Amino acid sequence: MERVINNGTVKFYNGKQIPLEMHKVRIVQSLNLVPVERRLEAIKTAGYNTFLLGTEDIFLDMLTDSGTNAMSDNQVSKMFVADDAYAGSQSFKKLEQSVKDVFGKKYTLPVHQGRAAENILSKAFIKEGSFIPMNYHFTTTLAHIEINGGKIAELFTPEAMRIKSSDPFKGNIDPARLEAFINEHGTENIPFIRMEASTNLIGGQPFSLKNMKEIRKIADKYGLILILDASLIGENAYFIINREKEYLGKSLQSVLLEMCDLSDIVYFSARKVTSSRGGAICTNRDDLYSKMKHLVPLYEGFLTYGGISIREIEAMAQGLMETVDPDVVSQSPLFIDYMVKELDKLGIPVIMPGGALGCHVDATQFVSHVPQSQYQAASLVSAFFIASGIRGMERGTMSSTRDEEGNDIFSDLELMRLALPRRVFTLSQVEYTIDRLNWLYHNRNLIGGLRFIEEPPVLRFFTGKLEPLSDWPETLAEAYKKEFGNSR
Ligand SMILES: *Cc1c(COP(=O)(O)O)cnc(C)c1O
Repeated sequence: MERVINNGTVKFYNGKQIPLEMHKVRIVQSLNLVPVERRLEAIKTAGYNTFLLGTEDIFLDMLTDSGTNAMSDNQVSKMFVADDAYAGSQSFKKLEQSVKDVFGKKYTLPVHQGRAAENILSKAFIKEGSFIPMNYHFTTTLAHIEINGGKIAELFTPEAMRIKSSDPFKGNIDPARLEAFINEHGTENIPFIRMEASTNLIGGQPFSLKNMKEIRKIADKYGLILILDASLIGENAYFIINREKEYLGKSLQSVLLEMCDLSDIVYFSARKVTSSRGGAICTNRDDLYSKMKHLVPLYEGFLTYGGISIREIEAMAQGLMETVDPDVVSQSPLFIDYMVKELDKLGIPVIMPGGALGCHVDATQFVSHVPQSQYQAASLVSAFFIASGIRGMERGTMSSTRDEEGNDIFSDLELMRLALPRRVFTLSQVEYTIDRLNWLYHNRNLIGGLRFIEEPPVLRFFTGKLEPLSDWPETLAEAYKKEFGNSR
């Protein structure tokens, strides 16, 4: 049966503009909403780090969209016919075919997740003194580049750091800055230029195809490689066909292919979109392929399974095919857009326009009375967990590092990210999120600061622990109980 693509744009007779789910739920998992006292206790035990909470205490898990998206019935069914083999699996051939069809690349190196691709790329291309120009870093990207002796240069446009903006493409690289940077540092020190689709850490913001073409031109002029981090490529392409004049109404497939054609290497984390695990590095260039190929068996597994189960290779192959379906890809951006607009109406500072992967609340404004040195975003994330049972993620200075003198390197943005895993939450759950955030906003003066009591030297946000600088969490929980009584 030919499926009619509705793209979430069904008109309502009553004139309301709400996103409509183009799927039905057939497997469900029960949720638990524990009382506020328990939430307070749980966040305390977790060292005010939401990574250290257990899901038994969490109502809506908006930590991340990584490995938490709903799979399609087709993906699950493909997992049962997986061709388990150490080498030469038919399932891997399906993945190769999907990569050819969707990304237009003939070589596929499978890896266990996105950061594993970054490890291999860094090992193959980066040396002491390398510079990697990019639109913006991702946490694991930065860590791999630095551990191999390289440095990053984030060449975004000024609009990228504006919280409320009407710029549809805040993920663009500034071409003038890029060219100046190349001239300053010399092509010999720049192993590649990196463009990240739907730039994760600045609010899931896309770049335009026009921009990507400009960057490609510069790469050609200086003989540089262009690498695309395609972890969130589906949404970036969705924004292009909805926001970029020359591409309005074009198919996702054609835009995805064009983005990949402009890249020498495409790599991705399959946890974000296509599957619950996995990733791959894809290219058409023989020279680049042979520079990376031998590293896969060393760090991941043989070339046809890459450290993940063959079932997951099947899920990835099918998931990739589904990233050209607008009904699949549009769900998350449409929900995020709805959430962002509703929060904005309430005066709550959020990154606008809405991007991919989640809604990003600006902690700099939300808790402007807390100094940045006391981890504004981390404070807000903890406070919101107490006020809702919803787990968000800190994306600010706690996710940053320290300089050589031991001072915090302040993050450009202090954000609480509320991720919306694809096709997982319902609109009433989104309404609950908006409601509790609204309550917290009206009681924001009760939120105080945090300090580290346990701090790992790398990627400290994953396992570090903090403590409050006063008894503000208790005060907040008291205020919550007063407002909502015995209702959870
Ligand atoms: C998640 C992500 C990665 C890392 O992928 P993992 O599978 O979590 O290791 C890299 N780049 C971007 C843009 C991401 O969103």
